[in-house]
Amino acid sequence: MFTAFLIKYAEIGVKGKNRYLFENALVQQIKYALKKCDGEFAVRKTDGRIYVDAVSDFDYEETVAGLQKVFGISGVCPMVYVEDEGFEKLGDAVVSYIDRVYPDKDRSFKVAARRARKNYPLNSMEMNAELGGLILDAYPEMRVDVHKPDILLNVEVRDKIYIYSETIPGPGGMPIGTGGKAMLLLSGGIDSPVAGWMIAKRGVKIDAVYFHAPPYTSERAKQKVVDLARKIAAYTGPIYLHVINFTDIQLYIYDKCPHDELTIIMRRYMMRIAEQIAKETECLGLVTGESIGQVASQTMNSLMATNEVCELPVYRPLIAFDKMDIVAVSEKIDTYETSIQPYEDCCTIFVAKHPVTKPNLNIIRRHEHNLDEKIDELVRTALDTDEVIVVR
Ligand code: ATP
Ligand code: MG
Repeated sequence: MFTAFLIKYAEIGVKGKNRYLFENALVQQIKYALKKCDGEFAVRKTDGRIYVDAVSDFDYEETVAGLQKVFGISGVCPMVYVEDEGFEKLGDAVVSYIDRVYPDKDRSFKVAARRARKNYPLNSMEMNAELGGLILDAYPEMRVDVHKPDILLNVEVRDKIYIYSETIPGPGGMPIGTGGKAMLLLSGGIDSPVAGWMIAKRGVKIDAVYFHAPPYTSERAKQKVVDLARKIAAYTGPIYLHVINFTDIQLYIYDKCPHDELTIIMRRYMMRIAEQIAKETECLGLVTGESIGQVASQTMNSLMATNEVCELPVYRPLIAFDKMDIVAVSEKIDTYETSIQPYEDCCTIFVAKHPVTKPNLNIIRRHEHNLDEKIDELVRTALDTDEVIVVR
């Protein structure tokens, strides 16, 4: 029955004279999301509002689900349009709207009429009273509540008359592309996909890098990361996923450095390599799924040790999240089931029995010199053999 949607956006409404940039980005993202849905749509920006009009048959559920993945949208209001063919016709339309949307009539309501066109014969107060009366006549079991109505029925007189009453929550945040681009270190775990999603929600475009260690990590493990990237891409648009072959670097570190420092040194090389790719691809920062104290490599001391090798800012949106909270987000964005598939990751394979939790920076740096002979060449080879997968 609905033929259009009013798109509500909260935060971008307050961006002063750059507002139009945010709105245009939002329109772009909406169009992009709708391309994946069945049906033809027109997206228009009028009177400081964004509307989506269906111009063919469309799949309602799928369209709503698509719009609920567009960052920047705070709410989606399904609408019905009525041609302005006199007040009597409007009354009929409003009564029939109530009937179709609310089969259960035991509810309170309030009509909120608005005229964007002041030449309409009734003013908004008169419209409220008249339409309210018609609804009560048709459904005596309903009642008016002007303070806390169950149903707030909006009737707006514009080029046509718009009727809507439901607001389906959107994801919030800012439209992708308004916040620059960042490089996500994406593993197959639970945390990093959530971290990427959270940064993207602030309007940041995401590319990703995955450190693969064949044959220690399998094709299935890599496929799992591609699958995770695809789940995030449903919100962000295409993700350029860089797959870096990390095996030789890991083996070399394993060979030359104390095993209790392996994870830290490995993570420092991941950060260095990710930063190189980030710089080459105009990313303004790195993103990881780290959270204080979660594992040995994520104590404050360890984070300091991995952080110091980077010039770019490292964003860690989960830094103060408990695992439980992270899992809740991953379930919401549908990455959880994929993340818990039991494929080995490159860190667990080379992990020491007792990894250091308070790495001493001077010692770490000194031990990294054990790698001087070959490490630059290994890093260069890893970068040169970067496999880029465009994940949609
Ligand atoms: P996750 O659940 O994201 O895998 P984790 O709790 O397993 O995180 P670590 O293995 O210590 O934690 O990794 C910390 C962060 O380092 C990850 O969140 C991710 O951003 C990055 N990372 C770890 N392993 C890889 C990898 N193989 N490829 C790319 N990034 C990685
Ligand atoms: Mg992990």
